[in-house]
Amino acid sequence: MIQERLLDTHCHIGAYQDPVAVLRAAEEAGVALVAVTEDPDEYRRLKMRLGRRDHVAVAIGLHPLHAATFAQNDMARFMRLLPDAEWIGEVGLDYSRAGAATAKTQQKVFDLVLAEAKRGQHTLTVHSRGAERDVIQKLAQAKVRAVLHWYSGPMYLVEEANRAGLYFSVNIAMTRSRKFPSLMGAVPRDRVLLETDGPYAKDRGNVAHPHQLTAVAVALGHAWGTELSDATETILANQRRFLSKD
Ligand SMILES: [Zn+2]
Repeated sequence: MIQERLLDTHCHIGAYQDPVAVLRAAEEAGVALVAVTEDPDEYRRLKMRLGRRDHVAVAIGLHPLHAATFAQNDMARFMRLLPDAEWIGEVGLDYSRAGAATAKTQQKVFDLVLAEAKRGQHTLTVHSRGAERDVIQKLAQAKVRAVLHWYSGPMYLVEEANRAGLYFSVNIAMTRSRKFPSLMGAVPRDRVLLETDGPYAKDRGNVAHPHQLTAVAVALGHAWGTELSDATETILANQRRFLSKD
């Protein structure tokens, strides 16, 4: 019997001290993962370092907070490597204090990504801190398959994201936040996916790891008022639907 795996849709595997050990633990725990990168160089290096592995997809990224540092050749490299990638991330916009000054450059980079992303081939994991309205509008226009990673925007935009067919990936830090119940009240159950955002996301002070992904399913079960097995079934069905070719 083939056991279906929970999918960590957003993990900075290269940022852990021992990425291979983290992958091994995930593999043993029955977790598949998307290893996001922040620029095409990191994508190339990580692909080389990890080699071909089952249950791991390396995503090609252009992180919005680095947008100002991308030169022509970074963009050219992104375009050249894109046809080989199934996942694109981390990409998006960030208008928080960390990113406000480079908003215009970020928009140019993100527009380019969306123009190149192929429907039916690429899946995007998207950063939207402080820029949720623009991100949702741009994704809706581009009609690409995308998941909003660590959504922290206003609840009134969730409806717009739903209409655009977007999914939401939930990590353990989100489930511990006070806003979580209202977010889960707004996001339909059939639009929820999982992520760790490790090693940046923490669970009560401890760095989140993909092999602990079930903890997110447990928290979702609590929020939904269902058994863990039902929550897991829902998430697996969401993964299937999200990733099925359209
Ligand atoms: Zn991230």
